[in-house]
Formats: sequence, structure tokens, C-alpha cells
Amino acid sequence: MIAGKRRLAAGALDRIPRRSRRALSRWNGVLILNYHRVGDAQAAEGDRSMWSATAEGFDLQLATLARHADVIGPDDLEDAVRGHGRSVMLTFDDGYRDNYEIAYPLLRAHGLTATFFLTTGFLDRPRAPWWDELAWMVRHGKRPPADPEPVIRALTERYKELPTARTKAFLNKVAADTGSGRAPATLGRHDWMTWDMAREMRDGGMTLGGHTADHPLLARLTVGQQKAQIARCARRMRAELGEPMRWFAYPVGSRDAFTPDTARILREQGTRAAFSFYGGHQPAGQWDPMDVPRVHVGPSCDAQMLRAMLSLPWLFAAGA
Ligand SMILES: [Zn+2]
Repeated sequence: MIAGKRRLAAGALDRIPRRSRRALSRWNGVLILNYHRVGDAQAAEGDRSMWSATAEGFDLQLATLARHADVIGPDDLEDAVRGHGRSVMLTFDDGYRDNYEIAYPLLRAHGLTATFFLTTGFLDRPRAPWWDELAWMVRHGKRPPADPEPVIRALTERYKELPTARTKAFLNKVAADTGSGRAPATLGRHDWMTWDMAREMRDGGMTLGGHTADHPLLARLTVGQQKAQIARCARRMRAELGEPMRWFAYPVGSRDAFTPDTARILREQGTRAAFSFYGGHQPAGQWDPMDVPRVHVGPSCDAQMLRAMLSLPWLFAAGA
């Protein structure tokens, strides 16, 4: 369903009497929501599509979830998939600092938990990731387009198709074509949480998982390189948090962003579940712990849409 139709349908669903709605929505399993950044995207230098919600929007979503859903952490995931209930998991990718500054206090205020997948290299050496740099270059070119967003989207999609060995040349070419040059080293320097922040969140009831060391698309790497990215991430998590990397989210997370080798490497190093990101929900009984589906949450996801996703995930949280 396209977004507009989905919205109309969510409104119609809300007008069905509660008892019929419940009869309509008989499903068991877990709906796993995925966020990236929370807060105000308007003035951002980087990729504004990374904002999943404003602070107010996220607060409202949490209020809805606290009332209508059983929110679990990944430790309860396997039981939830084997059981007969219905639950929700909240996840955040990348390790952006606003997760700590904005999302974490709101989660605490609502008494809810979430899992944060950290790109350990961004915590260790804070810098702009390629998607934020691409957005910056389009906006800071000699003749920036009137509407930069479609250009940023097109370049981002192109980047994702490239073998990792060719990505640097691609960024250099965009820098030359736009006339912006490569982004200054200061871009993104304050965008990432610190390890202290990560530890505070963990001690405050949140779960931390891995998201590689440098956020490459794993499927575009050799098996040896995949192994190195995963191992480095796990090693840094163990060193800083004193715990193994039990949970993992594939960078980008589309069906073609990881391979059977990726899953095997993760399993061998002790990862219990790895999360993809191409939509869908996790029905009870069907369990592939190395491809746990998650659904995108965007700024237009209000309480009504969230309730629709919870009621009829095969319609409102469908896979791509
Ligand atoms: Zn990511």
C-alpha cells in the first residue's frame, strides 16, 4: 500500500468498534520497530531522512505503546516468538547521540526499554558517515538543487549498490561534480554517543547491540572483510561494555545487504539474533534468528498509524 492509502485505511480501522477490531486482528508474535534519529531534522547538515520522529512524536508513540502494547527487550524475543502473545520491540540503529539525549530520557519516563545497535567505529572516532556526507555535499555544492532531497536519495541508493572498494572514488566524484569538495572533518564529530553514554543507557535498562565497526554494506565485502568488521565491533563492545555482542543489526538491512556468510560469521561469534530492515513483523512460530524482520518508523507515524501497525501488521507494517 502506498503511504496515503495506508493513512486512510488506518483512519478507517480506528472507526471500527473495538470488539470487531480485536476479532479482525488475531495474530501472535512481535512487531519490531526501527528508528535512527530523534529530534529536529530541519537544520541538519546531514541526511534528514535519518530522523524517525521528533521528540514530541516519539513521546506520543511511547505513550501509545505503553497503553496498547507489551514492550520487550531482545532477551525475551525467543520466548515471545514461541509463545501465544503479542509484543513490540523498539530498536535504534547506528548510535546517534540524540538517542541518548532525547530518546533515552523519554523511554525512561514511560518505563519502556529499547535496543541500540552501535557502529563502534563512530563512537571510537566520531565522523560523518557516508550518507550524511553525501547529503552535505549536495547541499554545499556550487549550484545546489532547489530541492536537494531527491538528489540525495538517488546518490544514497547508488552508493548502496557499489562494492565497498569503489565507494571512496564515488564520494570523491560527487565532491568534484557538485563542487563542494569532501566534507570537513568536523562534520558529524558531535553526532555520536560516547561509550560513557552507552554504559549509562545499559545501566538504565536499555540493551546494546552491534552494527559493525564502520557501517559497510556487509554483502559488498569479501568474507574476510565481513569477518573483520564483525569481529572488531564485537571486540570493542566487549572492551567497553564488558559483555559479548549478543545482538546485531545488519547495516542498511535490506535483503541484499547481508549474505549466508554474514549470518554464519555472526552465529560463530556467539550472536543470538541479527535484525534485518526491509519491513514485516515476526509471527509466532516462524523463527530465523539471523533474519529478524523490522519495520521502518518515519516522522508521519502518529498514534493512529502505530495502533494500525499493531492491529494488522501484515497490512500496515508490510515488507518491501
Ligand atoms: Zn545503520
